[in-house]
Amino acid sequence: MRRVLVLGGTRDARDLAARLDADPAVSVTSSLAGRVRDPVLPVGDVRIGGFGGVDGLAEWLQVNDIDAVVDATHPFAARITANAADSTARVDVPLLVLRRREWEPGPADRWHTVPDLAAAAGAVPALGERVFLTIGRQGVDAFADGSGWFLVRAIDPPDVSMPARSELLLDRGPFSVDDEVSLMRRHRIDVVVTKNSGGALTSAKLEAARRLDIPVVMVSRTPIPVGVASTSDLEVAVRWLTQPHGQRPRIV
Ligand code: NAP
Repeated sequence: MRRVLVLGGTRDARDLAARLDADPAVSVTSSLAGRVRDPVLPVGDVRIGGFGGVDGLAEWLQVNDIDAVVDATHPFAARITANAADSTARVDVPLLVLRRREWEPGPADRWHTVPDLAAAAGAVPALGERVFLTIGRQGVDAFADGSGWFLVRAIDPPDVSMPARSELLLDRGPFSVDDEVSLMRRHRIDVVVTKNSGGALTSAKLEAARRLDIPVVMVSRTPIPVGVASTSDLEVAVRWLTQPHGQRPRIV
């Protein structure tokens, strides 16, 4: 029996847990941070809450006799990804990052790519007054001093300062392109701010912005730690986990 820890909080992590749970040779535990009030739970065993940094995660891996870890967390959950790299290296447990591909701009897109949320907040005033802020609930405070009007969409309410002139829209994807177009039209949006999460669940806003010829401020990801294997392909991750060590696909 191979014991696998999936660091989750994403659709990819739930899909992976479902695949592994169906394999009698694998015992899978999914881990969630516990941020979302009403999380969509993966099948199989689930634990919820932080581990207590690198030390805590390294200890958890040893106590639970884990054979492999897949970090399938959100591409912007950079701390847990760094912690997973450090703790698995310390206790010599193989680690694979499963991460969806980044969105790429098409010829009709008007993207302004920025390195972080502070840079995104700095880029907004030159692009428009009415802003669709779709970055999740974390980091909204980077826009708290913004002078424009903000439509802030998140699953749960932000627990940080909001821009003075804003409206909160609580909603969870997937969203359709038509709905995104009407939302942006209804609120007379001039500019969309988003993080380059990738994946199909929330990409409709990009197609909607393209159709409406609205600029998008796109926040780049933090790179995966150097030397850590990664894939965007769920099937590759499953084979990496389920085949004997010598027959695992090579992933760089
Ligand atoms: P983060 O900044 O990378 O992590 C902060 C701390 O939260 C970590 O040090 C760890 O605490 C705990 N943590 C994070 N993910 C965990 C997991 N899967 N299991 C157990 N503990 C976890 O993460 P974040 O950006 O706050 O995101 C939290 C979770 O929400 C992630 O699991 C991610 O997949 C999901 N999520 C994030 C975003 C986003 O935009 N950031 C979007 C959608 C979903 P300890 O140090 O105590 O272990």
